[in-house]
Amino acid sequence: TFDDIAHPVCVGLDMAGGPAVPMATGRPDALFETDGQITKRPVRALTLSALAPRHGEHLWDIGGGSGSIAIEWLLSDPSLSATTFEPRADRAARIRRNADALGQDRLEVVEGAAPQALDERPAPDAVFVGGGLSAELLDWLSRHLPGVRMVANAVTLESEALLIDWQARHGGELLRIELAQAAPLGPRRGWRASYPVVQWSGVL
Ligand code: SAH
Repeated sequence: TFDDIAHPVCVGLDMAGGPAVPMATGRPDALFETDGQITKRPVRALTLSALAPRHGEHLWDIGGGSGSIAIEWLLSDPSLSATTFEPRADRAARIRRNADALGQDRLEVVEGAAPQALDERPAPDAVFVGGGLSAELLDWLSRHLPGVRMVANAVTLESEALLIDWQARHGGELLRIELAQAAPLGPRRGWRASYPVVQWSGVL
């Protein structure tokens, strides 16, 4: 609901009195129904910037979660389309609801795990990996999609290690995103740190 929107600078009321959807990527988290599995607004903005959508492109969003990456990709331009892959039925249904609530019917939701579920889908121009990162997945993507842009975010040590090794062998860029937000600490305030995110971007 509107009261849950934690970032007052980037929201307002639209003409019908509902929350307005801002035009810039990195829209408020509260626009998305979530069970907690969501790429938070600042990291999402950096991720969409790295994905760098261009006219008419198709995205694969692997590890859909709440769908926020694919939905913000679609919100960037009406010429864009996306397929998201999410193995959990409850999350796949939530992604559909979030896309519909924001008017994004150009999203295909595939209920299934990568890499198995990737077979026989129309090839993408860009791939985002936000879940399910594994050596098997990276191997599948580099064999099937050479030349395609990819952005992958890692939070665990295990997935981070995969990206560090991947960059040593394939090049590309590694970015470590460390953010902290002021929050109550007893009667005063302190910096509440988020888990660092390691982001690889480059060409497969
Ligand atoms: N970027 C998402 C959040 C991703 S959370 C958002 O902003 O909403 C990571 C998701 O990856 C989880 O929902 C998990 O179910 C999914 N996942 C885990 N293993 C996977 C696999 N092998 N293939 C596809 N998705 C997977």
